[in-house]
Amino acid sequence: MLGADMTNAALLGLLGLLVGSFLNVVIHRLPKMMELRWAAECAELTATEGGEACAARPTPARFNLMVPRSRCPHCGQAIQWFENIPLLSYAFLKGQCRHCAAPISVRYPAVEAVSAGLFAWCGWTFGLGWEALAWSGFAAAVLALACIDWDTTLLPDDITLPLLWAGLCAAALGLTGTGLADALWGAVAGYLSLWLVYWAFKLLTGKEGMGYGDFKLFAAFGAWFGWQALIPVILMASVIGAVVGIGIKLMGQLREGGYVPFGPFLALAGLTAMVFGPSSILAVLGL
Ligand SMILES: [Zn+2]
Repeated sequence: MLGADMTNAALLGLLGLLVGSFLNVVIHRLPKMMELRWAAECAELTATEGGEACAARPTPARFNLMVPRSRCPHCGQAIQWFENIPLLSYAFLKGQCRHCAAPISVRYPAVEAVSAGLFAWCGWTFGLGWEALAWSGFAAAVLALACIDWDTTLLPDDITLPLLWAGLCAAALGLTGTGLADALWGAVAGYLSLWLVYWAFKLLTGKEGMGYGDFKLFAAFGAWFGWQALIPVILMASVIGAVVGIGIKLMGQLREGGYVPFGPFLALAGLTAMVFGPSSILAVLGL
C-alpha cells in the first residue's frame, strides 16, 4: 500500500516539475502578452478614430508562450535545453547565467519545487487518475496566479475563468467531492461577496481595495470547494494578507501606490484548503 502511494507521488511529482518549468514561462510571458494585446487594441482604436499616426505601426514580432526562445534577461543569450532542466539546471549552473554570470532568480527553482510538491501530494492522496489530475491542474493554475499577481497586481482572465469553469465541470464529474449545486452557489457567492465588499469599500473610502480578478479567483474557489469553504478561505487570506501587508509597510518595502496584491494570499488559502481541508483553517484560527 505504502509502496503504491510513494510511486504515485513520485510520478506526479515528476510531472509537477515539468509543469512548474512551464509555469515559469507562463508567469513571465502572460502579463507581457496581455500588455501587447492591449497595445494592439489601443492602436486599432486610435487608428479607426481617424488618427493615422498609429496605422503605419509595424506588426510586432510574434510573442507567445512558445515563441521566441527563452533568453537570459541580462545578456540576451538564448537558453539551451540543458540549462532548462527543472531544479537540476539551477543547481548545476549554481544559480548563474552560463555566459554572463548574472544571478538567476531563485523563483524559478522555487516554483518548480512547489509545483512538484503539490502534484506529489495529489498523487499520494488520490492515486493516479482523473481526481489527481484535476487537483494538480487546480494547484498549477493557482500557483501561476499567485506569482503573476505578486509581480503585476493582475489576475489574468485567461487563467481565472477557465479555473472557474473547470471547477464546475469537475464537480459535475464528481472529481472534487463537491456537489454541483454547492459548486454553483459557491461560484456565485464567491464572486458576489467580494464584489459587494469592493463597492462598499469604494463608496466609503473612495479607494479600490482589490480588483475584479480577486472576485473571479474567489468564485473559482467556490466552484472547487463549494460555498461552505468561502468563509474559511477568505478569513485565512485576510489574516495573512494583513500581517504581510503590515510587515511590508514596517520594512518600508511598500510599492508605489501602497498597493499589496490580495491574490497571492487568496491563492495560499486556496492551496491550504486543498491540502488540509477548509475546516482545518477554522481550527487553526481558533473558530
Ligand atoms: Zn546572461
